[in-house]
Amino acid sequence: MTIKVVIASRNEHKIDEMRRILHEAGLSLDLVGIREFPDLPDVDETGTTFAENALLKAREICAFTGLPAIADDSGLCVDALGGMPGIFSARWAGTHGNDMANLQLLLAQISHVASDRRTASFHCAAAIVMPSGAEKVVEGTMAGRIIDTPRGTNGFGYDPIFIAEGYSITTAEMDSASKDAISHRGLAIAALAPTLSHLLA
Ligand code: IMP
Repeated sequence: MTIKVVIASRNEHKIDEMRRILHEAGLSLDLVGIREFPDLPDVDETGTTFAENALLKAREICAFTGLPAIADDSGLCVDALGGMPGIFSARWAGTHGNDMANLQLLLAQISHVASDRRTASFHCAAAIVMPSGAEKVVEGTMAGRIIDTPRGTNGFGYDPIFIAEGYSITTAEMDSASKDAISHRGLAIAALAPTLSHLLA
C-alpha cells in the first residue's frame, strides 16, 4: 500500500519539484497538496528562520489532517540587501506569490550594485512531521548571483534572474532535472529522504 503524505504547499511548481525529487530518491508515496483539504486554516508563517516556518507548517498540517506532513520554506538571500528578501521572498512586493512583481522590485533595489557584488543564495528548509510526534528538519543551499535582465521560462519565482555558481545559464533556463540536482530544494528534500523512508517504514 502506498502511504499518503501531505505536502504543505499550494504552489504546484514546488509540489511537482518535490514529487520528482522524492521519486528520484526511490520513495514511492501518494503525495497530495493541501488543496485536497479546503477547510484547512491558513498557517501564519510567524517564524524568524526558514527552519522555524517549515516546522510550523508541517506541525499544523499534520495535526489537522492526521497524516504525515512535509513542508518546505524557502527563499532568496541577496548579500547586497543584507540577506533580504529571505523568509519574505514570496511576498517581497506586498502580495503573496506575485512572482513578477517580486522579481522586478528586487531588480530595482539592486540596480546600482556592480555585477561582482550581486552575490545571492537560495535556501530551503524541509520538515517532516509524523502523527506520532516524530519530526525532522534539514536544509539545502544553492549559491550564485543575480543578473539584471530576466532569462528563461522554466521554474518559478526568482529563477529568471539567478545564475548558480559555476553556470552561465539561469535556473529558469535549466531543465528540471538539472535544477533539482543542484538546487536548495533538491538538496534539502534529498537529505530528508532517508529519514522519510525510516519514519514511513
Ligand atoms: P515559500 O512558499 O514561503 O517557501 O516561498 C518561497 C519563495 O521564494 C517563492 O515564492 C519564490 O519567490 C522564492 N523561491 C524559493 N525557491 C525558489 C526557486 O527554486 N526558484 C525561484 N524562486 C524561489
